[in-house]
Amino acid sequence: MLSRDLHNRRVTVMGLGTFGGGVGAVRFLVQRGAIVTVTDLRSADELAEPIALLAATPPAQWHLGGHRDEDFLNADLLVVSPAVPKEAPHLHMAREAGIPITSEMNLFWEHNRGRTVCVTGSNGKSTTTALTHALLSAAISAGDLPARRCWLGGNIGRSLLPEVDEITPDDWVVLELSSFQLEDLAELKPAPDVAVVTNFSPNHLDRHGTVEAYRTAKQNLLRWQTPEQFAVLNQDDPDVSRWPTAAQTLWFGARADGFDQKLLREWLPLPGEHNLRNAQAATCVALALGAKPDSIRRGLQEFQPLPHRLQFVGEHAGRRFYNDSKATTPEAVQLALSSFDAPIVLLAGGYDKGIDLSPMARAIADRTKAVALFGQTATTLESLVRHFDVTGRTAVQRAANLDEAFAWANSQATLGDIVLLSPGCASYDQFQNYEQRGEAFNQDVRSLG
Ligand code: ADP
Repeated sequence: MLSRDLHNRRVTVMGLGTFGGGVGAVRFLVQRGAIVTVTDLRSADELAEPIALLAATPPAQWHLGGHRDEDFLNADLLVVSPAVPKEAPHLHMAREAGIPITSEMNLFWEHNRGRTVCVTGSNGKSTTTALTHALLSAAISAGDLPARRCWLGGNIGRSLLPEVDEITPDDWVVLELSSFQLEDLAELKPAPDVAVVTNFSPNHLDRHGTVEAYRTAKQNLLRWQTPEQFAVLNQDDPDVSRWPTAAQTLWFGARADGFDQKLLREWLPLPGEHNLRNAQAATCVALALGAKPDSIRRGLQEFQPLPHRLQFVGEHAGRRFYNDSKATTPEAVQLALSSFDAPIVLLAGGYDKGIDLSPMARAIADRTKAVALFGQTATTLESLVRHFDVTGRTAVQRAANLDEAFAWANSQATLGDIVLLSPGCASYDQFQNYEQRGEAFNQDVRSLG
């Protein structure tokens, strides 16, 4: 196969991106002696971060700030980012010219010799992937799982492609897969040893067009599995619970048998019912592969929570601070608010996507003792919260920015309270991305001493 013999081949990488996949692909191709051209619609300035990561393995050419026809007509192979729409004109041009087309994940799948656990779903993918990796790593350390090591990668933001030769058949690889990656993987008929589907709700319809196309992409994970393999599925999800698979099915959910949910709750350092489900899914994988309760306990207790997803940042003067900056939708805020029993002082607001914020405002009025609002949506949210808060028990304050919101929220909080950043909006009006917003909050917490 062409992609196995890359020496002196002209390879065009379309879309460097900032999620790790593009960088991983370039490193791998350059290491194998390919003559690589990287092209992206974005400029060198916008791509400064991923470009810096390629200092030691630079491509032969950078063609940034737009695409050139020759890079798509004269290549031996085209490696396309999953973010590129299928109908992009240059992709069409390459197809017409008969250029072989692949992706970072397809290259990984072709070269990987390790055993695989693949996680997909609409929500909770990264958390479930990281938890599964933690449990399998603990099971390997404890000797429950006969394997050398467990790797973590995929859509979670880490490309394993440059290291693929170090992965042996004795290893396990836990991969997060997006629907876009699964769409491309279909041509390789992937059959993971364990497939995990967290849930399914219609999103990304802007790219997939219809719910059916989005579902079909996700179902690629189960489509080619065999009866010796496992499918870990959400019993409570009306859609996923009916997905066909030839694999042995293990169910997780509120009423699922199996591991004692009370014990899991005790061991899991993450708040919220949704995280209990994510942990249940990861536990199903670990048990299926032979992990014992003791290594599961250790894996959960020592789990390092992912940043910006209800991340516990610290405790000061009896108040606990949580960063949920990844919550960019009203539903995510409702989920965060339902994850705590203690009184909540919330920081919310941000970029205005023009969606209905009423359900989020209602939840804020029902569940918080105070809310500091910042960003473009602050004014709308303020009037909505006041409208729903008929008893006037939620103190509402508008702030110019996150730092001001933080200072006020902190002044409202007392012993035993939760101070929570869960914005419910994108960050683009005042930050580059949700990570930068979360870091600013973490910094504010640290500045308390
Ligand atoms: P993904 O990788 O699918 O985006 P993450 O694990 O990064 O998911 O979590 C992102 C957000 O999705 C969380 O902050 C939370 O609001 C929500 N979430 C996480 N797990 C679940 C779940 N099991 N069900 C519903 N929502 C969830």
